[in-house]
Amino acid sequence: MGVFDRMAVGDHEQLVFVQDRASGLRGIIGIHSTVLGPALGGLRMWPYKTEDEAINDVLRLSEGMTYKAAASGLNLGGGKAVIIGDPRTDKTPEVFRAMGRAIERLGGSYITAEDVGTCPDDMSFIRETTQHVTGLSRAEGGSGDPSPTTAAGVQESIVACLEAVNGAPAKGDEVLDGVRVAVQGVGHVGGVLCRNLAAKGARLTVCDINAEQAERVSKQCGATVVAPEAIYDVEADVFAPCGLGAILNDETIPRLKCRVVAGAANNQLADIKRHGPMLEQRRILYAPDYVANAGGLINIYYRDILGRACDTEAWSPTGIYDTMKTVLRVASERKVPTYQAAQELAGVRIEEARRSKMAQR
Ligand code: NAD
Repeated sequence: MGVFDRMAVGDHEQLVFVQDRASGLRGIIGIHSTVLGPALGGLRMWPYKTEDEAINDVLRLSEGMTYKAAASGLNLGGGKAVIIGDPRTDKTPEVFRAMGRAIERLGGSYITAEDVGTCPDDMSFIRETTQHVTGLSRAEGGSGDPSPTTAAGVQESIVACLEAVNGAPAKGDEVLDGVRVAVQGVGHVGGVLCRNLAAKGARLTVCDINAEQAERVSKQCGATVVAPEAIYDVEADVFAPCGLGAILNDETIPRLKCRVVAGAANNQLADIKRHGPMLEQRRILYAPDYVANAGGLINIYYRDILGRACDTEAWSPTGIYDTMKTVLRVASERKVPTYQAAQELAGVRIEEARRSKMAQR
């Protein structure tokens, strides 16, 4: 399929190829939608084997950002950028400055941030050549590490889902007392989530492909450690995927022994149309990942875009709790899978904004 046809599938607005011979930069900026606002999304650096792979990734990820922002009620569109290269060997300040110049030429329709393979230091080089960058360190006046706010939003999602499956009146955080949670991946987000859940009386089982990391979190939270492959078989109330995506698939879903799946990882369903319904059939309530893990984006929006104080201490993730409740209510009333309810809610917001923009023309 040609590039234009691939853009038409998800209705992407713009795909920008960036080449800078002096620094060796080869990158792509994908703008899926600017209907709700500037397209914000991270800059990923990855050793893509082919250009096709890089194009697919930027198209898929930028579309996901549109839905994440829309479902969270933010006035942001969806975008993403990729640099083709190995972050361990190919990073130079010049590569990021060149990417910054390309972002600047877009005049603010795309705003970048850190992502897999990039970090706040890289954003500092980008800032030398463009003002359209977020995710700088606190020391540089940015919103800093988004993980604590992401973890807080995941916790609110777990509470909302548990209240729904218990069928009892809302009880807030009390619902976490004694609840069994299996956490896959205890890095930046998973580690904070475990510490917070343990403080509320949850009983944790954790795993990580980095065994030392799993042991460290286990000591901090009194969690039981299992081998990474064994996490799917753990009997728990909640399974919280906080590692990588596509872990809910044909092989793993039949093994799950939980009532709720709610975690931070992006794109948890390997195939949304197939594995969403599969979870439904197993009567497992799925918290759509982009609603549950939007805390980091919300933090960037309030702190970096609107310039409002949004410290984790002061920031209340109840917005995510409310959004998740709405998604679950709509799914239950309309008898549709939760991921579909989330997509429809986001779609309605985008369509309303599109109509109002058209009317103003
Ligand atoms: P991280 O790299 O700090 O932590 C991920 C951890 O998962 C690592 O310790 C890794 O060893 C482990 N892991 C990976 N695959 C695993 C597997 N199959 N089994 C067990 N452990 C595994 O990343 P993070 O910042 O904590 O993010 C976690 C997930 O949440 C990622 O998918 C990320 O895209 C998503 N996310 C993060 C944020 C954020 O604010 N950091 C925001 C939105 C979404």
